[in-house]
Parts: sequence; structure tokens; C-alpha cells
Amino acid sequence: MPRKSNNIRTNFRLQSMKNGTEQIMEPVKKTAKIAALAAAAITFSVFGMACRQKQTNENGNAVLAAEKNEAAAPKTIKLPAEKLDSGARVVYLTFDDGPLPGSDFINKATLEHKFKGSVFVVGKHVLNGKTSLRTLRDFKRNPYLDVCNHSFTHANMDYKKFYADPAVASADLRKNQEDLKLDLKIIRLPGSQLWALPTRDFNLKVQKSGPTAEILKTEGYKIYGWDVEWGQKGAAPKETAEEIFAKIESQFEKESTWTRNHLVVLTHDIMFSKADGQAQLLKLVQLLKDKKYILENIRHYPEKDSGDDSDDDLKGVIKEQPKQPS
Ligand SMILES: [Zn+2]
Repeated sequence: MPRKSNNIRTNFRLQSMKNGTEQIMEPVKKTAKIAALAAAAITFSVFGMACRQKQTNENGNAVLAAEKNEAAAPKTIKLPAEKLDSGARVVYLTFDDGPLPGSDFINKATLEHKFKGSVFVVGKHVLNGKTSLRTLRDFKRNPYLDVCNHSFTHANMDYKKFYADPAVASADLRKNQEDLKLDLKIIRLPGSQLWALPTRDFNLKVQKSGPTAEILKTEGYKIYGWDVEWGQKGAAPKETAEEIFAKIESQFEKESTWTRNHLVVLTHDIMFSKADGQAQLLKLVQLLKDKKYILENIRHYPEKDSGDDSDDDLKGVIKEQPKQPS
């Protein structure tokens, strides 16, 4: 039976627009606060304040030490793609903005409970100190995690200004890639619901981040948005695991994901910094496993949407820049 690709894409469009209106300010403030603290530490060091200078030197030494260890350590072998039966449904859990409180739990949980996920890291947060450096190293050594690029500065939380100069914005992503020595050329743009794979894209022509994405795409990067956002309230999940699971089920049933039978979930590390959020994440993983959904790394997301060759039909439809953080 032929698939109704227009309906699928319309549903995806509507969901994206809905996501765009569900702006949650708390996490922005929280992340902004942490980012501001990191920025302050860097700024103070630039102006030579003695105590901060010492901290920066320590950070600098730690960076060098971490790089040395990294080079000396055997390369972690990441896990191969899961074998998919026909009709299998695949969920990609993605965690943004780390290293932050919550990141270490993600690392531990994926190892202990053996589920795959993908972290999108921010260079400025890595410079917060030795703990953050260690977290990044743990991420890289964790076979269950893909470590991906979420920019160095997170646009300093000013997306309009950031994307106004695509050369500067793309350089920021490039710096993150190089400074953190990331192997995978996989990006989630800060504050932007945009997908750009070699053979298809979504929102590329209409988002303010589009020209930045175009540059990065020509350099071989793949850029991922999301299908379902697990919202935040303060430093905790806004919805329960059961509620977000119901949303996931609903999108699969309606075939309103960007790629049929493949669904990307957006979360933020900070949501899993406290016991309740941590329990909710484990609960969601259990619900997904019980339903035989496959948890997969983002690098295995399909290049093509099998059975749907009408990628151009909604280009140019979404006029508004989604405002939610990512
Ligand atoms: Zn983000």
C-alpha cells in the first residue's frame, strides 16, 4: 500500500511548529546561567585576575593532560548498528549541552543498563574544569554513546546574532569539532530545528541557521533535529516517562516522524542531574525496551527515508524560526 508521504510530512511539519511554540524558558536560563559562569571564568582570565588566571592554567594543563591520556588510551570501539527486522521501530535518545550536571549519570546509565544514546557536547562547558574534561573523556570511551558537536559557545544563547554571520557561526562549530577532537562529523545546531543529510534536508531553506548549515554540509557534516522533545522544568523533566513514551508511540502510529519508523528524542543532560529525573530516564528506557523498540546511536540514522521520495514537498513551508532551546 503506498504511503501517504504528504501526510507524514505535514504531520512532521505540524509537530515541528508545535515544538516551536512550546518554548521552555527555565532550561534556557539554567543553561545560560551555567554558560555565563563559564564565560565569566574565561573572561576574568583574559583580563589577568590572579586567582582566575591560576584556574585557567589548571584548566589548560588539564586539557593538555586529557589530550595526552586520550592519545595514549586505546581507541574505544563503538558498537555496530543493530540488525533491524522489517517494520522495526528505532529510537535515538539524544542528550544536549553537556558536560553539565546530569552528564555523568547518562554515562553511567548507558553502561549499566546497556542502551545506546548520543550526546551533543558544548566546548565551553568542557572548559568548566577537570570534572568536565573527565566527563568528555568518559563519553568518548563509552561504547554505547556517540559524541557529537553542539557548538563551542552554544551561540552565547543569542541565536539571532549567531546565525546572522554564517562564517562566524560555522567557525564556532568547527572549533568545537577540532578542540574536542570529535571523530563523528555530526552536529545539532544550537537553538535550531534543522536537518541536513547529504541527500535530503528539512528546514534548511527557511531557518536563519540555514546558511550556516549549508556551509557545514559542504564540509561533510550531517545535521540533526528531533521528532520529540522531552521538555524541562527547571533541572528536571517536564513530562513523566509515561507521558513522553505516549508521545513517542503516537508519532510512530501517525507516521509523523521525519523518517518512517525512526524517531529522534531531544533531551538535555541537566534534566538527569537529580534522582527523580534519573529514575524517569531509566523508566523511559524500560518502556521502550518492553515495546521492543530499538535504541540506536545517531550515526546509524538512515541516510534515506525508504519508501518516501518526496523530500521537496514541504520545503519553504515553515516560516518561523523555532524559538526553543536545543
Ligand atoms: Zn543546546
